[in-house]
Amino acid sequence: MITLRLAANLGKISLFPGQWILCVETIIQLLVLCVIAYSWYLSVFHVGIDWLIRRRGSYALGAIYILSVNVLIAPLAGLYLSLCSGRYTRDVAIYPLPDKKLLVEPYICTNQSGDPDVCNKGKCNGKWRPPRAYHCSTCGVCRLQFDHHCPWIGNCVTLYTLKGFCCMLFLLPVAFTVAALPIFKILLVHISSALDTSRRNEWANQIWWDWPGSWILCAGPFGRWVVGTILGFVIIKIDRQKSREDLLEPGYLIEEPHLRLILTVGFAMLLSLFTIFLLINSLKMVLQGVTTLETLRPPTIFVCIPRGSAESSVTVPIFPNERPYDLGSTLNWKFFVATRLVASSNLRSYIWPKLNPTMIQRMRSPLQPDS
Ligand SMILES: [Zn+2]
Ligand SMILES: [Zn+2]
Repeated sequence: MITLRLAANLGKISLFPGQWILCVETIIQLLVLCVIAYSWYLSVFHVGIDWLIRRRGSYALGAIYILSVNVLIAPLAGLYLSLCSGRYTRDVAIYPLPDKKLLVEPYICTNQSGDPDVCNKGKCNGKWRPPRAYHCSTCGVCRLQFDHHCPWIGNCVTLYTLKGFCCMLFLLPVAFTVAALPIFKILLVHISSALDTSRRNEWANQIWWDWPGSWILCAGPFGRWVVGTILGFVIIKIDRQKSREDLLEPGYLIEEPHLRLILTVGFAMLLSLFTIFLLINSLKMVLQGVTTLETLRPPTIFVCIPRGSAESSVTVPIFPNERPYDLGSTLNWKFFVATRLVASSNLRSYIWPKLNPTMIQRMRSPLQPDS
């Protein structure tokens, strides 16, 4: 009866698209935290304590390994939690619409009249959208210096959080390399023996190696090899259970081939390669003075150059290939490095982003005779 009532109530629950995304992203965040916690447990207890110290007797190496893993994983988890926080509060555009007659420096505007942009989406309801801000439909707020919305952190990455984001992308492959380094050689031996077992096993040959579909089913010949090796690990596990080997020997998880260890290391390696690619791409954009959004969707914007009164102000369009916020790679890098690692831009007064000096010079040049 209770089960029926619960099922009926669950049927009544209807979530808005934004709430569904919030649920999915919360699950992703919990999964990522579980993966971090499990990797820490595997490294410290199974590799460090059980295998290096208890099995191999390398006390100094074990201590250095455990210390290094903790030194890397603790800030990684801290940065991750920090980037996940403030979904509706951090770097949100909350400033009143500026009076264009009072502006004296060149500023970004959306039309020939020099009007600042406003956002009419969701709760923003006509609020000022400052330059480089963007309304994130997932978070439902206008984000200052928006770069992109990252589903892995369930939050927007802005130019104020980009440094922390890049540090996290850098720490992940470093932590993986340090954690996997001592067991790398033994894992290669396990992979080789699993592959060998799989090729010699009648059942594996029947269901996989001799089946023509294995060449195309899982991403071609490489996938055929991966699935065949996984089958080898499964066969080894079944044989081990049959022979009732003592699995509680210190360091058994590392010394014997185990599928869960190989899958964890394989997943971490793929994730590390992905983060290296993302890091290189993000740093390239930092040096160019553009955000991910500006690269994907260059905005059609103008620059208004105030000249004393609203009537004499001049609005000049930005060229399609011009980067309005590029201050030169050295300055772009300096601004990026100067950002606080765990930062928020919710200051009392709005700080206008600096504009490309070469672009402003180009825009001012035809105005010289009048100024
Ligand atoms: Zn908005
Ligand atoms: Zn967002």
